[in-house]
Amino acid sequence: MGKVLAIVSQKGGVGKTTTAVNLAAAFARRGMKTLLVDVDPQGSVRFGAGLRKDHPTYGFADYLSGERTLRDVLLPTTLPWLRVMLAGSVTDLADHTNYQEQIASGEQLPRMLAAAKERCDIVVVDTPPGLGPVTRRTLASADRVLIPLQAEPLALQTTPQILRGVQDIVTTHEHLVFDGILLTMYEAGNPACESTVQYIREKVPSHLMLDVVIPRSPALAEAFAAGQPAVVRSPADAASQAYVNLATKLAERAAG
Ligand code: ADP
Ligand code: MG
Repeated sequence: MGKVLAIVSQKGGVGKTTTAVNLAAAFARRGMKTLLVDVDPQGSVRFGAGLRKDHPTYGFADYLSGERTLRDVLLPTTLPWLRVMLAGSVTDLADHTNYQEQIASGEQLPRMLAAAKERCDIVVVDTPPGLGPVTRRTLASADRVLIPLQAEPLALQTTPQILRGVQDIVTTHEHLVFDGILLTMYEAGNPACESTVQYIREKVPSHLMLDVVIPRSPALAEAFAAGQPAVVRSPADAASQAYVNLATKLAERAAG
């Protein structure tokens, strides 16, 4: 039985999707049977996950509407151990509200995640920004949660809010293992960035922080634009290596 790992944050633009895509690819490269699920109706995962172009990009919404089988919506990627499930297909993205209501109130998402867990070693779920109904529904079915936090001066304002979010998540979902806060976009040598990280380390209890830090790297966005996870396209890049190290650490924890 695998684990469901949710990537969550109240904030947008902190590296959730980048983390979900690269962690999933790093798990798959370790030979773990991996499913990357994008429950965000914006569907950014589709661009960077290395989806194979010879397969139509149907999504979970197409399965919910009865138009496609579960098999149709499990999309193959360039990595043999990685499959992707998107929220919607390209065409039905207009109808977000309907999808969100369906996900928030229905039993389909928990059921799908439970079924995926039985067949995979790990299911990584990318969520929309905020702790809205889709994210909460995901958390209710997840085993573990990881929160990316951008190492930039704005974090001075957002850290207390993020901590309240962690508290909220942990107290409302007792079954969840909190894997930690992941610092992203860290720029060594940038004084503003370094003092922010120092502030975060003072404010956040160390057991809530992951010790792997993701450096700022253009390779991540470049790989995304080229349609591949950076851990596949630029494995020697420092950020790719940090994601591989993180995957190793999380895989060991989840197995132990
Ligand atoms: P979210 O899903 O939280 O909105 P994204 O993963 O989409 O965040 O990241 C937001 C932007 O920041 C994207 O353009 C992405 O390429 C970029 N980005 C994410 N992580 C890094 C990083 N470590 N270094 C440089 N750019 C990054
Ligand atoms: Mg995103």
